[in-house]
Amino acid sequence: MKRFLGIFITGLLLLTLCGCDSGAVRVQTATDVVMGTVVTIKLYTTESEDLTGELLALLGRLEEDELSRRLPSSEVYRLNSSEHGREQQVSEGLGKTLERCAKIGTASGGALDITMGAVVQLWDIDHYADCPEEFMRPEKSEIAQALSTCGWEKISLSESAQSITLEPNTVLDLGAVGKGIALDRILAYLEGKPAVSGAVISVGGSVLTYGCKPDNSAWRIGITDPFDTSDVCGYLLLEGTKCVSTSGNYERYVEVDGVHYHHILDPKTGEPVQNGLASVTIVSSDGFLSDALSTACYVTGEEKGLKLTERYGCQAMFVSEDGLLRMTEGFRQLFEPK
Ligand code: ADP
Ligand code: MG
Repeated sequence: MKRFLGIFITGLLLLTLCGCDSGAVRVQTATDVVMGTVVTIKLYTTESEDLTGELLALLGRLEEDELSRRLPSSEVYRLNSSEHGREQQVSEGLGKTLERCAKIGTASGGALDITMGAVVQLWDIDHYADCPEEFMRPEKSEIAQALSTCGWEKISLSESAQSITLEPNTVLDLGAVGKGIALDRILAYLEGKPAVSGAVISVGGSVLTYGCKPDNSAWRIGITDPFDTSDVCGYLLLEGTKCVSTSGNYERYVEVDGVHYHHILDPKTGEPVQNGLASVTIVSSDGFLSDALSTACYVTGEEKGLKLTERYGCQAMFVSEDGLLRMTEGFRQLFEPK
């Protein structure tokens, strides 16, 4: 009896500590297209106030006010269309993002390069993925011309990242980190809402898990099978707050005459990366890191990518084009193969 009571009290304590008193917990769900991708939200909360609309609006503002390369209302658009060669002010949020991108850019040997906007625009895979019949492969000379505007030396950030100077024709593109930043903003929002005991939110290929489920079981996150995107190659079983990002050659692409042109570009060649990888998945407690590293590691390939993820204390899985799944030990402990 004593032992039974002990287990019972421990159970109650765990439930209270977790804030997961299932009796009063309600579920809120929403799905919408924001930031050019599908966003799904599932929240567990003890209050009836609907938070999903606020979260979707928050992501809309992130795109419209800060990150979009296409919307004239955004800060990135303003910088790209400002007079180059002159110092421009940046907001605190974007300044921090640029600083973090620069650090990972250096640490990855230039694999993550947010100055590649001109090359991204030239290929415009995002657009042609929806109308492949219109796709025309850029000429080598056009790629060389666009590449000449890229590289970390083409931008200079002031000491405290309050201003930036772009070299002539350099175009910023934050597509590689936008979804991860979205996860960080969502996390900050949820941390200010004590009534939310758990959440799972996906922004395209990036997923945030937060808190716990009412039954305290682990979050089960499917990882897309790069060879059959309607299926998964396995599941991650996650506890508490985690961010998962996957970069793959199946996300946005055009296939012409048997050649697969996708949206992750090699800053050395200006062409879609061809290194035998189909996808890279990163697990981190930070959204920006998971997204930045999934793109960077896709570009560097497995060997350098493993060193990079180790340096940042993240877990990684590399899926090769011949179907091999290679992962860090920490990833293996969280992974349930299909
Ligand atoms: P997704 O946007 O599908 O989640 P990624 O996070 O890997 O995929 O980001 C890919 C996007 O990043 C591209 O669409 C492009 O805008 C940009 N990009 C492509 N190659 C690079 C690169 N080497 N460094 C930085 N950004 C890149
Ligand atoms: Mg990324």
